Amino acid sequence: MKILFASNEVAPFSKAGGLGDVVGSLPKELIKDENVEIAIFTPLHGCVDKEKYNIKELPDSQLKILFGYQMREFKLYVTKLPDTNINVFFVDSIYYFGCFNEVYPKWLFENYEHERYIAFSQAVLEYAKYLNFKPDIIHTNDWHTAIMNSYLVSNYNLDEFYKNTKTVFSIHNLAYQGVTDPSILDFTNMQKHRVYHHLGIEHFGHVNWMKGAINFADKIIVVSPKYASEIMTEEFGEGMDFTLRAVPYKICGILNGIDYKFFNPETDKYLTINYNINLIQNKEKNKEEILNKFGFKNKDLKRPLIALISRLVDQKGLSLIRDMEYELQKLDANFVILGSGDKDYENLFIWLSNNTENIRAQIGYNESLAHKIYAASDMFLMPSKFEPCGLGQLIAMRYGSLPIVRATGGLEDTIIGYPLNDSTGFKFWRFNGYDMLDAIKCALYVYNDKYTFNAMRKSAMNADFSWEKSAKKYLKVYYELLS
Ligand code: ADP
Repeated sequence: MKILFASNEVAPFSKAGGLGDVVGSLPKELIKDENVEIAIFTPLHGCVDKEKYNIKELPDSQLKILFGYQMREFKLYVTKLPDTNINVFFVDSIYYFGCFNEVYPKWLFENYEHERYIAFSQAVLEYAKYLNFKPDIIHTNDWHTAIMNSYLVSNYNLDEFYKNTKTVFSIHNLAYQGVTDPSILDFTNMQKHRVYHHLGIEHFGHVNWMKGAINFADKIIVVSPKYASEIMTEEFGEGMDFTLRAVPYKICGILNGIDYKFFNPETDKYLTINYNINLIQNKEKNKEEILNKFGFKNKDLKRPLIALISRLVDQKGLSLIRDMEYELQKLDANFVILGSGDKDYENLFIWLSNNTENIRAQIGYNESLAHKIYAASDMFLMPSKFEPCGLGQLIAMRYGSLPIVRATGGLEDTIIGYPLNDSTGFKFWRFNGYDMLDAIKCALYVYNDKYTFNAMRKSAMNADFSWEKSAKKYLKVYYELLS
């Protein structure tokens, strides 16, 4: 079974959030099935380190495609996904991707942003032919590659090469749908009548690429069972609930996993001192390092350290932290924040960092610092407004940092809230600053009861969110489609 994965992010080459983690780790588990062969396609973003990952240009891979009246040129690069034999192909376009260091550059013109992924999507379908990689399954992810689902229906519907190809579309976040003016269709070369209708990409007079994939894909995977049911409702449906409710038979909620080799406190190369459940005292050394690095006033190792590592966007519930900024300063705990995103939140956290005793922040994306903070912290705050799956809480548990979460989407599915048996974290339900504060206070109370806190830490570190179980469910979906 040949599976073509397409994604805008693939860890460790390019990552802005969970999407990169998933596409960089799920295939490693899938190829344990000896019938499976995988090729991953992703853009060659300017930030991808070609030398470090031995990424080489394929000879004679120059490709020219005419979009509307504009000729665009591409080249193809390749390397292996680290520690595997899986080919990762990078579509190179200096005009669209090579010229930016960010995976999601800010302030792009809407048309240009859509052109980037339109160009990438058609280039991938052409390059699969060039490589003679005839996919049984094309697995697209989020709106950037959802465009491929429309191309398959519009331009490749009579193509022998894709005649037997089935499609799977993963929704990692329904909030980003790829919406734009229908005039973009002139650029795509698509046959409008095949795609631009209410059972295709048309949504209230706009083009909506995610809607296209929801309608055209053979199967839709949502990254947690709870989020799969939530998005059918008006509250979480982002205007797409009606469309989703029309195709419930296609939708399948499968929980994300994380790469247990990469996120492993016992072997993590980013940590100064490694540790495991039996050597938990070494975790304190990591805490000491972070307390010093961030210049906390109170460096008492007994004082709990609460971490937040996140994209700084509304979805992550950061408005609750803004609402509770004074109350948080009064708590007997230190807070360490790492993230980047909306300017308002970046400024808020910089201000708190400069003007409070117990809150420190670093703005930016930093993989190694993120690992150090997971290892250093006692608790991990994720007060999300909605959360498709969430990987932060899974990584935190692996590092013995107990999640304090709002029980929504994947956070509801993955955390067993105190005081239930074998609890692994703390939950609150209503999206409200005081409820979040109560959950934090509860966590601080339990922190002082060493027996209970250590038992919870043990349950969290022993919880299994590796890909093994979930990958089996993915394989079941693929095999059912092909049978
Ligand atoms: P989302 O995909 O919505 O951003 P997830 O919780 O699913 O959220 O995944 C976030 C991933 O990105 C985790 O691996 C987390 O550690 C990482 N991450 C988020 N922000 C940063 C940052 N500023 N620096 C390093 N890693 C980050």
